[in-house]
Amino acid sequence: MREITTVGFDADDTLWQNEAFFRLTQAQFVELLADYAEPAHLHERLLAAERRNLGQYGFGIKGFVLSMIETAIEVTQGRVEARVIAEIMAAGRDMLAHPIELLPHARAAVEAAAVDHQVLLITKGDLLDQERKLAQSGLGPLFHGVEIVSDKTPEAYVKIFERHGGRADRALMVGNSLKSDVVPVIVAGGHGVHVPHGETWALEHAEAPSGNPRFHELADLGALAGLLVALHIGTSG
Ligand SMILES: [Mg+2]
Repeated sequence: MREITTVGFDADDTLWQNEAFFRLTQAQFVELLADYAEPAHLHERLLAAERRNLGQYGFGIKGFVLSMIETAIEVTQGRVEARVIAEIMAAGRDMLAHPIELLPHARAAVEAAAVDHQVLLITKGDLLDQERKLAQSGLGPLFHGVEIVSDKTPEAYVKIFERHGGRADRALMVGNSLKSDVVPVIVAGGHGVHVPHGETWALEHAEAPSGNPRFHELADLGALAGLLVALHIGTSG
């Protein structure tokens, strides 16, 4: 195996909390429409709307708000009051203003990786919102490059690593989503490191590529520095 020169970090639910805020807003949404539909039905219709809209709205809070409004119209058969729509929009604005909460070891893991590697932040979602969160996190200066992309495919990763003078087969990507952060990087020839987060969006689930020598799983970011050392020894020894 080749030596790793680039380490990519996912942002949401890898470096800082994200999904928890979506779940809180979803709970508010269910409450707002309690007179019209059962929670399970609302969750199911909302997830269907998000899935349907992903190709047009992309990932992020704005698309989520539009999907909530669409679901509200659907489950009330067009009778939803403007007051409820206004509350959904206010909940979305609250999410966009929510202070960042770093996850354990986030800063130390990026700092440690940056000693011997080029470190990139690779995230998808609303451009403005991700820029805001990165600025607020204080981690921005640690990264050699930041990539906010519309989707994380093997092709997207190949291009990103090339753009920064690297190669996918000499890259390692760390993230909470098997579907977005781990599987596509392994397909592109790199290493994928899964750091599970208790709360992960239903549309981010994928089968773990267990048995692949380039697949790694860590309990938390605190173990990343050790993995990088072990992989370095493995390639030089
Ligand atoms: Mg994530």
